[in-house]
Amino acid sequence: MNKQKVRVRFAPSPTGALHIGGVRTALYNYLFAKQNGGNFILRIEDTDQTRFVEGAEEYIKKSLDWIGITPDEGPEQGGDYGPYRQSDRKSLYKKYADQLVEKGHAYYAFDSPDDLTQLREEYEKERKISFKYDATVRYQLKNSLNLSPEEVSTLIEQEVPYVVRMFIPEDDEVIFSDLIRDDVRFDTNELDDKVILKADGMPTYHLANIVDDYLMEISHVIRGEEWLSSTGHHVLLYKMLGWTERMPQFAHLPLLLKPEGGGKLSKRDGAKFGFPVFPLQWEEPSDGNTYKGFREAGILPEALANFIALLGWSPGNDQEIFSVEDLVKVFSLEQISKSGARFDYDKALWFNQQYIIHSDTQSLLSYIEDYFPNISGLASKEYLSKVLELYKERIHTILEFPDQALPFFSEEFEYDTKQIKKRYKPENHELYLDLFETINNTDPFEQRSIKSNVESFISEKETKFGVVLPILRLAIAGILQGPDLFAMMEVIGKEKTRKRLDRSLPIFQELKN
Ligand code: GLU
Repeated sequence: MNKQKVRVRFAPSPTGALHIGGVRTALYNYLFAKQNGGNFILRIEDTDQTRFVEGAEEYIKKSLDWIGITPDEGPEQGGDYGPYRQSDRKSLYKKYADQLVEKGHAYYAFDSPDDLTQLREEYEKERKISFKYDATVRYQLKNSLNLSPEEVSTLIEQEVPYVVRMFIPEDDEVIFSDLIRDDVRFDTNELDDKVILKADGMPTYHLANIVDDYLMEISHVIRGEEWLSSTGHHVLLYKMLGWTERMPQFAHLPLLLKPEGGGKLSKRDGAKFGFPVFPLQWEEPSDGNTYKGFREAGILPEALANFIALLGWSPGNDQEIFSVEDLVKVFSLEQISKSGARFDYDKALWFNQQYIIHSDTQSLLSYIEDYFPNISGLASKEYLSKVLELYKERIHTILEFPDQALPFFSEEFEYDTKQIKKRYKPENHELYLDLFETINNTDPFEQRSIKSNVESFISEKETKFGVVLPILRLAIAGILQGPDLFAMMEVIGKEKTRKRLDRSLPIFQELKN
């Protein structure tokens, strides 16, 4: 058993926005680190300059920050194992590639990209299987396995570009024990001689990732399932470099699936189904599209963290609501499922609603003010808080608030005339007017007293709530939907309630005639 201190890393490549699956990977790493008194490290893997996207690193940091996952070490925080951006570690990697070449675990390959493309085409046409640079072809190609040392030196002197490839041993098996998937095996005959150092001298993902995990003393690699197929190469690299003693334990997380199952969740699914797949809004440079994030959809960061924590992990009981602190206590890698987790946006909305219901009104109010900076111009903080209190249980996201609560902010609201026609009965006209009178005479004008006056009215007049209340509600708010009517009246206040009742009278009068 590995007794070293827990050190985990989230190692995104800044090639675009951080997908929700990436946020989940970061969260699981964070939870695992905190649970074990370890460190959570952010490492930016930007060795592939061709895929670099401006703003992506910034976006990743902002997203983690929004969800509340703060790295203990990283490009911003620094730390004893820095630098934490691979482009700032460039000079470090070549020596390991050289070491591998010296030990015969890697070799120089001078095949030009054009040669390889041609070869691939011919090979695939002839054999109907995909081309792999491996033991079956390596001895026919232009590399240091086939050229004499003199030829190799000459090519290098002539500055002919070359890459360094891993020399994968034949007829062997690579086995490692994954914390989620148990024993995983690779037949080395299935593995290709991966490039580890590119012609520009930069390491590929495989080399840089292994070197950095080793130098940063990473104890556990918790990452998405899409990296499982690379792990055979990674385990071999540990062996070749003589680092098996300190090889991290691996845990490969299940994929996030489309809402209807069948395939990986992609950013196109977001556009297709109309839900966010990124934490924050993202302007995609490649297609010029703007992708709305969970934040812009009105989802609270705590709710998002809770939602994604349960995509693939389960506590083993029915509990669903977990703060990040709760998760730190109960999370376990063993409880992560092997099969993919279906992404269900309705469930995200449900979580958000739970968080809204249980949030204190003041902090919700500050969210609302962030989303709708003009809202404080409409009413005092005190009034806004009271209205919010009434709507907490009725909204799924903060975005729904201004629309739903409109009757609280405007005296010029429209009436749902269809409902008025349906509910208004001319024979009850006097009864409505008497009720309005009762309301106007209520003192103090509070939810309880209004309610008890209306109750007395109903029993005195031998009528029913269903006969008079819809009309009262339509007169006061214009629509039938809304929170408790007596509470609404208290918040709107006596004066405005009276004015609203007066304003509605001509409508009913007209229907009577
Ligand atoms: N740079 C890889 C990525 O973009 C890291 C994979 C890993 O965690 O090893 O996800």
